[in-house]
Amino acid sequence: MTLRAQPKASHFIDGEYVEDDAGSVIESIYPATGEIIARLHAATPAIVEKAIASAKRAQPEWAAMSPTARGRILKRAADIMRERNRELSELETLDTGKPIQETIVADPTSGADSFEYFGGIAAAGLNGSYIPLGGDFAYTKRVPLGVCVGIGAWNYPQQIACWKGAPALAAGNAMVFKPSENTPLGALAIAEILHEAGLPKGLYNVIQGDRETGPLLVNHPDVAKVSLTGSVPTGRKVAAAAAGNLKHVTMELGGKSPLIVFDDADIDSAVGGAMLGNFYSTGQVCSNGTRVFVQRKIKAEFLKRLKARTEAIAIGDPMDEATQLGPMVSWAQRDKVLSYIEKGKAEGARLVTGGGIPNNVSGEGYYVQPTVFADVTDEMTIAREEIFGPVMCVLDFDDEAEVIARGNATEFGLSAGVFTADLTRAHRVVDQLEAGTLWINTYNLCPVEIPFGGSKQSGFGRENSLAALEHYSELKTVYVGMGPVQAPY
Ligand code: NAD
Repeated sequence: MTLRAQPKASHFIDGEYVEDDAGSVIESIYPATGEIIARLHAATPAIVEKAIASAKRAQPEWAAMSPTARGRILKRAADIMRERNRELSELETLDTGKPIQETIVADPTSGADSFEYFGGIAAAGLNGSYIPLGGDFAYTKRVPLGVCVGIGAWNYPQQIACWKGAPALAAGNAMVFKPSENTPLGALAIAEILHEAGLPKGLYNVIQGDRETGPLLVNHPDVAKVSLTGSVPTGRKVAAAAAGNLKHVTMELGGKSPLIVFDDADIDSAVGGAMLGNFYSTGQVCSNGTRVFVQRKIKAEFLKRLKARTEAIAIGDPMDEATQLGPMVSWAQRDKVLSYIEKGKAEGARLVTGGGIPNNVSGEGYYVQPTVFADVTDEMTIAREEIFGPVMCVLDFDDEAEVIARGNATEFGLSAGVFTADLTRAHRVVDQLEAGTLWINTYNLCPVEIPFGGSKQSGFGRENSLAALEHYSELKTVYVGMGPVQAPY
């Protein structure tokens, strides 16, 4: 029987689909129903070698092309992605369970933005500088790193494949991308589109695999850089392995971000921001503002409106355009989220709404109700650990200095947000919050033009913007002597 999202083969290497049945089986499951939609194989060491060798062979010629010519191909890929937005969004929904209402506006389109942006700035963003030195002078060049490895998480499979691929390719590198074993399908579609757009063979290879496969890529001597999107524990392992032979690394890791609502804020906007920052993608967003600090004076009103709007969320079939909240990506993630909800109850947080499994969906799907806890205190497990599900913790606060200190009291430093009508205060507060990406009077917007990434244990390096080009290239400095060499001997 043909499975409904079965790709031609598991891997995409050197411009074509490749299979190696010797690799362990990866079953791709549609999280809304538990249906197996594709059966793939993890890469064997031979597949890993093949992918890296193909990237290594193709990269020098690509790097020698003009950035404008490289960019043209990326922009063509962006156009194809937009033309196929519906088809790609359906695939993303099958891969992740995220509602089509979201994927159609947030996934392939975000990937296409990335190809369009990096295709456009490749020519201008890679310039070096001229440094006058009296008679002598020097100049710098921005050169590609070589073969880059991208390793993805399961929450935004297509976006992550593009956010890593676009700047890497624009800067003249080749990429070998390994999607998460939970969501193996989207990256293959991206690889196909890039080649249809004219990308020479070998420059964007996709191989499947899990935590056993990742190290084969990270430890490979021909790999110059590793960009990981994943959890903090994985980040520590990957960074340590990459340090073994001093590879470049970008780490996009987890978070437990504070979202602070002062009592002068527009309450409806703040409630909307908090809901987007906790329930979008069923809460599976690294930058989510999962610790919502609400100033005591507006607590009752904030919770009243939040409860009403949360209870009105349409949960159900992700392919139905009216559905606003789909299932978790996997049964394991569903169980993990439910166990955090139980911890919240046991440790004394007050359940405002949700807290279990919705009763209007199939028991085979990995659904969890959107859940709000109030009266959460800083030491509770649900306020300290990343849950990665639709669980919002509302904490009370009284004054600015207190909330800044409590907001920063975490090992993470990915994101933070502030809602207030007082713009002076907004800037003063974000200035003191320890995070890589911050929002004032909005939350979780990440257009390709702005740098995105974390501080503290949430990682280092940046994706998107001109900053990403810098992370996929390095400076070469050339000193030019214009006169005779003055040697003392
Ligand atoms: P994960 O850390 O379990 O896995 C991430 C990827 O790393 C997967 O492809 C996995 O196969 C691979 N991997 C696991 N062990 C490895 C190893 N030792 N060497 C090499 N590769 C290895 O993360 P996940 O569960 O897929 O994703 C959820 C996590 O990702 C959350 O913590 C979330 O916050 C984070 N995330 C961060 C961002 C960001 O941009 N900062 C975005 C999305 C998700």
